[in-house]
Amino acid sequence: MTQKLYYEDLYRTEFDAAVLRHEEGKEGVRVILDRTLFYPGGGGQPCDKGTLGGQNVLDVFEEGEEIVHLLDGPIPEGEVHGGIDWDRRFELMQQHLGQHLLAAVLFKRFELRTSRMRIEGDDVSMDFDNTHVDEETVRQAEAEANEAIWRDIPVEILYPSFDEVKLHARKLPPKTSEPIRIVKVGDLDYVPCCGLHVQRTGEVGIIKVTSLENHKGGTRVHLRCGRAAFRWLDVVCHEARRVQLELTCGPDGMFQRVLHLKDEMRELTSRNGELLDQAAAALAEELLQNAEHAGEHVLVSYVLDGAGQGGHEPLPGGEVKRLFHALTQRPGVVALLAGTDAEGVSLLFGCHREDKRVDVRGAFKQAAEMTSVRGGCSPCCAQGHGHLCEAQEQTHAKLQAALDVAAEVIRQALSSGQ
Ligand SMILES: [Zn+2]
Repeated sequence: MTQKLYYEDLYRTEFDAAVLRHEEGKEGVRVILDRTLFYPGGGGQPCDKGTLGGQNVLDVFEEGEEIVHLLDGPIPEGEVHGGIDWDRRFELMQQHLGQHLLAAVLFKRFELRTSRMRIEGDDVSMDFDNTHVDEETVRQAEAEANEAIWRDIPVEILYPSFDEVKLHARKLPPKTSEPIRIVKVGDLDYVPCCGLHVQRTGEVGIIKVTSLENHKGGTRVHLRCGRAAFRWLDVVCHEARRVQLELTCGPDGMFQRVLHLKDEMRELTSRNGELLDQAAAALAEELLQNAEHAGEHVLVSYVLDGAGQGGHEPLPGGEVKRLFHALTQRPGVVALLAGTDAEGVSLLFGCHREDKRVDVRGAFKQAAEMTSVRGGCSPCCAQGHGHLCEAQEQTHAKLQAALDVAAEVIRQALSSGQ
């Protein structure tokens, strides 16, 4: 049975121990010592890291009565010197006691029982299964838990009888023959826990709840404590300051300013859409005036890419669909459109959706092959996208050539009474 030095002195960082066994495994070198300062993880708290005999400790875990240290290299026989990563351990102890304090207030004041907790990186999460916990309750509990921190209450570790535990504990441990380890914080908390905690509440520094989410019909509360909370607040404050400078407001004005900007954006987007529709309608009118007549149909073929007819660009390249809509809402119009935008090229062929005399699929297939465009077809609407890597003039020429071929296919089909 490995002697657990981490329970004897929470603030010790280095130790010497005898190597009982070591063996090469798939994941690293497994080392068993007669005693250790490395906490193997448990109670939601991850294991300690550090060095042992000059090698890095990758993982520490319990196997029966023994504690296994997984190292990234071999160590000599006999005595070995170890040191834990103190910054990591101290932060884990801050996070763990901070979580106890918030859980204790939520239980004592609001009768909310934590189902489980987990420390992962800088984040601590607490689950309340099948119980909805609202934000206001958590805010109140957070404030009270911070008050408990600032009262700097000593943390006691007790090993009472099971009857005592049943009488006082916030939650009961699983039935065991082993002594039950109780973490007691003044008259605020009395809870069984195998984890490691700072020895006074003041060392937690601060608790900050960062978010709440729905989880398993209940609520998961995310929080950070101590140094991890400071790191988080540092980032949030820095980012908030940058946003305030952009919005020329203080921290309490940010939300209203963002809502205002979103309204403005919605209005501008809507106005922009109307203007683009008007521009598309005007361009459609211009194209129809100069369009080719093929029997009862009017054939419009156009490359929308800034090098188009008339040398001006009334619509951005990505607006092929607006132009298509403006053209094909008129019965008798067959539109063969191509466009370029940041993502590549697109083809859009079609006619009024009730015009059964036209089928653009054959024309689209040929044009798509010439421009390496992929897409889907129906008789009255065929569209696809592709990449063209050439310079803009070459792309334009290639698209124009594809439209010329497509126009010829349509012309022949219409004249043969499709
Ligand atoms: Zn605990």
